[in-house]
Order: sequence, then C-alpha cells, then structure tokens
Amino acid sequence: MKITLAKSAGFCFGVARAVKQAEKYIVDGINACTLGPLIHNPIFVKFLEDRGVYVADNISSVKDGYTLIIRTHGITKKLLSEIENSKTEYFDATCPFVKKIHSIVAERSAAGDKILIAGDENHPEVIGIRSYCTTESFVFSNMEELKAIKENNKFTEEDTFSLVSQTTFEEKEFKKCEKIAKSLYTNLKIFDTICNATALRQEEAIALAKENDMMIVIGGRNSSNTEKLYKLCSEITETYLIEKASELSGINFNNVFSVGVTAGASTPDGIIKEVIKTMSESNVNIESVVENQGQVEAIENTEEMSFEQALEESLNSMSNDQKVVGVVMHIAPNEIQVDIGRKQTGYIPADEYSADPTADPMKELKVGDELNLIIMKTNDVEGTIMLSKRRYDAVKYWDSIVEANKEGTILEGVVVEVISKGLIVVVNGIRIFVPASLSGVPKSGRLEEMLNKTVNFVVIDIDKRRRRAVGSIREANNIARKANKEKFWAAVEEGQKYTGVVRSLTDYGAFVDIEGVTGMIHRTELSWKRIKHPSDVVNVGDTVEVYIKALDREKGKISLGFKKIEDNPWEILKRDYPVGTVAEVKIVKIATFGAFAEIFSGMEGLIHISQIANERIEKPQDVLSIGQTVSVKVIEIDSEKRKVGLSMKALLPAPEKPVVEEVPEEDEAPVTMSIDELIAKANEAEAESAE
Ligand code: SF4
Repeated sequence: MKITLAKSAGFCFGVARAVKQAEKYIVDGINACTLGPLIHNPIFVKFLEDRGVYVADNISSVKDGYTLIIRTHGITKKLLSEIENSKTEYFDATCPFVKKIHSIVAERSAAGDKILIAGDENHPEVIGIRSYCTTESFVFSNMEELKAIKENNKFTEEDTFSLVSQTTFEEKEFKKCEKIAKSLYTNLKIFDTICNATALRQEEAIALAKENDMMIVIGGRNSSNTEKLYKLCSEITETYLIEKASELSGINFNNVFSVGVTAGASTPDGIIKEVIKTMSESNVNIESVVENQGQVEAIENTEEMSFEQALEESLNSMSNDQKVVGVVMHIAPNEIQVDIGRKQTGYIPADEYSADPTADPMKELKVGDELNLIIMKTNDVEGTIMLSKRRYDAVKYWDSIVEANKEGTILEGVVVEVISKGLIVVVNGIRIFVPASLSGVPKSGRLEEMLNKTVNFVVIDIDKRRRRAVGSIREANNIARKANKEKFWAAVEEGQKYTGVVRSLTDYGAFVDIEGVTGMIHRTELSWKRIKHPSDVVNVGDTVEVYIKALDREKGKISLGFKKIEDNPWEILKRDYPVGTVAEVKIVKIATFGAFAEIFSGMEGLIHISQIANERIEKPQDVLSIGQTVSVKVIEIDSEKRKVGLSMKALLPAPEKPVVEEVPEEDEAPVTMSIDELIAKANEAEAESAE
C-alpha cells in the first residue's frame, strides 16, 4: 500500500502563530488562558490544559494575572473593545486573514453596502465578521440560501451589496454562489476572502482523493475546515475522518493499494506524524512524508506580521514565471479582465488593483493598457487566473523605499488606514506604518482626521527581510519647518507685511505663525484703545495681517505690529473732526470743571464748564446729564498733550451783553492737563464727594 501525505497538511499560518504564542507562554512560565478552545483539536487543547493554559468561556472567567489569548477566528468588535478596556493582558491571535475581512465589511458597510457572507452563521468567525457590519448582513452556506435572501427581502434598485466569505468556505461552492450572486444583485462587489491556505489544502485533498483508493483526513471533528476536507474527499473516494492514530484500528485497509492523507489547519504535526508512524508500522510503503519544518520557519519569520507583510513575504519566494504582463480587456467596478497570453481568463479583483483604496481603475485604466502583474491563483477547472497588480507594485517599489530611507528623502503618500497604534500610509503601492507618536497629530487630536489625506513623511526605519517600513510625518514636518525658517530669516526685513495665524494668547500678547515662524504682537500693539486681554481683539485661529516691527536675529525673536495708523483715533479725529467741526456727542462723565463727551468710540473731549452755556452756571450737572447727546463744536485738538476741547457755547447765539466768566479757581481745569489726566482728576473729585 502506498501512502501520500498532502504537502499542506497540518497547521496553517494563522493557527501556527496562535499555538506558538501559547507554547511560548508555557516555556516562559507566564500564566495564560484562551478565550474558547484555541484550536478545534481536543487533543491539543488538553495538551495545553495539562500545562496550565486553560480555556476561559468569557472574560469574567479569566483569572487575575492571566494573559488571555484570542483565538484565530477572532471575536466580536464589542468583546474586543471590552477586553481592551479591561485590565486583562491579552494576545490577539486573530488570523490576519480574518482581520482583513473585518476591515472589508467595516469599510463596505460604512459605504452603505449590505453585506452577504458565505459561511456558517453559527461559526465564531462569521459571528465576529458580522459584528463589524454596520448595515444589514446576511449569511448563506449555499446557492439556495443565497437565492432565498433575495426572495425574502425587499431590496431596491438603489441597494448596494458586498460579498465576502468565511476563510474556510469551500472554494467550489463559493464560485457557484459568486455566479448566482452576480445575476441576482446588480450593485455587487465580490471579495474572495477564502484563505489561500484553505483553498490550497482543499485543492490538494481533491487531487489526492482522485489519485488514491482511500483518504484519511486527520483533525478535530468540531473543526470546520477539517469537516470540509472530509466532505470534499468523501464525494470522490472512500474517506475516514480521524482525530488520532488509535482510530486507524477501526479502518479496513484490505484491498486498499493507495491512501492519501491530509489534515485540517488545526491538526498538530505530532498527531500527523503519529498517524503516519502507525501506518508505517503496519509495514506499508510510505511515499511522501512532509514534515512541516519549512512552515515552522515561515511562522517564525512572519510572527507579528500584518496581513500585508505576510503576503509580501510570500512574494520574495516567487519565481519570474509568476510575474506577467497583462493587456486590459475589460474594466468593471469589481474586477479588471486582462489577457496574459494564456488559455485561461485573467482577472484582477478590485482589491488587488492597488494598495491605495482611493485608486479607481474605472478612471485610471483603459482597454489596451499594459499592466505588470503577479499570478495569485490558477483555476484550471474554471479556466481562470487571478492576478494582482497591487502586489507587483509592492515588490517593484520597495527599492525606492529603501533608497528614500538611505537618503532621508521626503515622500508623499496617502493615509489609507487608521489602526490602533498609528496610521498606514501608502506610497506607490507600499504600505508604510506611521506610529501615532510620529503622525504629527497632537495627543489631544484625532488620528481619524488624517484618513485619506495626502501627507509628507520620511522613512525612518526599514526591515528589508520582512519588507516593513516605518515612517514619520512629524520628522518630515520638522524638516519642512526648518527649511521654511531658514528661507524666512534670509528674506525678512523690518516693515514687511505678512499674513499669519494666531496660534496662542497670553496676558501680554498674541503669538502668530507667519510662514512657519512665530512672532509676537504685544498687547499694546493690538489696539489703539486700552484692552484688558489680547482676546478682546483676536482669537486663536484668526488670520491676521501683521508687519515686522522689530527683529532680533540672534535670539530669533520677532515683534509684530498689528494696529494700523489709519485706525489711530487721533488720526481719525484730525481727519474727520478738524477744529471747527460741529458734532453730536454723548456725555460720558461729569466733573466740577466740565463734562467729558464721547466723540466716537475711543475718543473723548472736554466741554469745559465755561463752554457749556453763555451764562454762568454753578455746576455742569445743572445743564447736562450722563448719556445725554448734545451738539458741540471742536475748538481745540492737541494730539501731543492728548487734549480735545469742545464747546456747546460756540453754537449758541451770542449773548446781548457780554458775560463775565467767574470760574472759581479750584474748579478750573489745568490747561496743561491731558484728557487722561483730566479724567483722573474727575475720578478723584468723584471719590472725594462720595466720601
Ligand atoms: S485557515 Fe487561513 S484564515 Fe484560518 S487561521 Fe489558517 S491561515 Fe488564517
């Protein structure tokens, strides 16, 4: 009897990553537990439990001091946020391929699409995916259920849809559903989110089943992908699902000349080895036993990698045969059809077109354009080849990122994603991680406001092996600011005018940003009037016209002028109220020697008691009261002494007999006093009379 073990049998990337973390905790002596069974394999779950890594049913059953491992299927958005906000330490082992689906449905439902999910509605992965949908979501597991969704709901012509699949959904069924979906839903975007590892495992299992008399599928009976392998193989040949080697004894190998062996994504290597060993001890000829050493190395290399990074890593191992040039034949919103000179139909799914989500092939491409592409998947049954331009770009432009890092070049990119620790900026199809602290967004600011913005950044760190790059927007801003400063100081002269923005206010002035350099307007420079605080005139964020009043190049200080000469009340007075002008004024203060009247805002004059009436009056209050409006003639302007003399008498008819003015000496206003001094004197007198 010949035995052939599938090359892809055993842990997939996601499961291996989670298992490795659990094993690390055991080795490091860190108390840990898993939220539900870590993988769908009871033997391995028991192995972990025997070493202290127990299964917690919910967060409240996580013991104090234990680190919680979130399993590969992922959890609901709400639960994740509860864990994040709790004191529990955790490791999120959600597979990056599952996380990718979370972001697709979140983005598409935010755009208004209803979400169709190919999968098992009770599976934790699907429950998790649905929790990221903000619009209606529908789950189907076959074509009939997909049709029923359409029949049972009153969708309108305006409704738009996106279709995704559970990572372990059967590829053949998905293709059938895809066809039906295209005919049922006109506004539909299709995202083939079946995990490559799953698809490959299924393809290999089918091929093995076709070549062998019997198939053995190893894996947990509660594992969805193991169960699918079993179903696929059973349709072709006699198939047995076993969890461990001891179950082989129940299988009759009589008249069986060849056996194919495959295993689910959560089947540990040890169990596969044990099954093979048991079969070999039965004196059979084992043709191919592939130990998963290569996979273990890949896992080590991809630990902590993001989805993109994991994919890019796989690009390193690509041969030139996988890079092709395609000619665009047809462009649709969900895919681009290309001819790559092979018998199969080539197509680029929408999300494989560019790493920049704002890129629109409908606008950017035309039939006949040539594109450099990477082959993702060949399906000989369907006669199709799935291609990616996005991944080709990622390989091609990587060198330019390395060069930019070496030269300190400022690059321009678009913020395409906001993640918990920062931003993802895309430049030429390369994703650059910008930590929040280097995003240029203050701690009090919102990173979300950067989304879809074009930003400048410098590449501050790269990991060539993992094709990771870290960027800093803050550093690019600093470089730009420094260059601006140098340019400014080289050109600035006193008297030059600038438009600036008020950045902050203090008791003594306003700080203004002019071309990236900060200058200060002193409080006394803000207004011709007395003000209590700079905010009486300007506010933070105001755009202001300023001029350079003084420069201290050594200290880098700039004093700015703000108030304009034409707004000087003494200039207004001279221009609009020259001596001899008759004006309506308002009495604002009364003293023994006269009354003060407001000529216009910020300018007051004195109507001396002798200028109130033709006849002698005892006191100004006999004729005038505060708030009263009277006509006066401007009889004197002395801007140096800040005196304005007004007269009501000058507007009265001349008296028949000359009136002899008898002003008590103590009531006379000292002629050399300014308006401010006179007001002070009036205030003093008022205070005295109050006493
Ligand atoms: S089967 Fe695919 S999606 Fe699921 S955990 Fe493994 S790698 Fe991730």
